[in-house]
Amino acid sequence: MDTELALAWVREIAAAVERQEAQLTELDSAIGDSDHGSNLRRGFNAVMTALDSPEPTAVGAVLAKTGATLISKVGGASGPLYGSAFRAMGKALPEEKATTAALATALAEGLLAIQQLGGAAPGDKTIVDAWAPALAAFEQAVSQGLSAAAEAAAEAADQGARDTVPLQARKGRASYLGPRSIGHQDPGATSTALIFRALAQSARTA
Ligand code: ADP
Ligand code: MG
Repeated sequence: MDTELALAWVREIAAAVERQEAQLTELDSAIGDSDHGSNLRRGFNAVMTALDSPEPTAVGAVLAKTGATLISKVGGASGPLYGSAFRAMGKALPEEKATTAALATALAEGLLAIQQLGGAAPGDKTIVDAWAPALAAFEQAVSQGLSAAAEAAAEAADQGARDTVPLQARKGRASYLGPRSIGHQDPGATSTALIFRALAQSARTA
């Protein structure tokens, strides 16, 4: 991954959030407070502005600036969680170019940051349920190169998001619903799948 690809990834996330805002909000209306789509749209719109002025010149700087902007602009739980993840990934990737193995390490640092801040484990019906399987799939496919690893991660994240449907939420706002959170796909796991899909898409066209 080079700086151009890091920028393309974040821009693709912003575009996908824009396209899927209504769907994310719909999911959050079932087990939350109907703001996940608008939270992410506001956050990634601010990220787009921040990345234009001035444009970062290293992979790590792109991701760190993305993280810092999400933390400062998004009020909901997802802002600090995704913000910390991107900031941790940025910290893990200081160089201009990052190998696929280095990106795997960065994605692991991202998950660690999410879990340190939010305290969620796999099965709690959160972002972790898509990020953890995506990371495992990415790590397993590292030797096949970035495009294949990102594609495998995107598939695993999609599956992880779908697998949240029968789970009962144990973290975040949805946990207040207790057993009534069962039967709905988690909004945050769904947006994590979008983030990995965007990586696969930008890696394919790079
Ligand atoms: P809020 O819940 O504050 O309205 P959002 O609607 O933007 O924030 O985000 C909700 C999503 O955040 C949930 O669907 C869940 O995936 C994720 N989430 C909430 N709490 C946690 C946590 N402690 N760890 C990981 N993810 C979490
Ligand atoms: Mg919400």
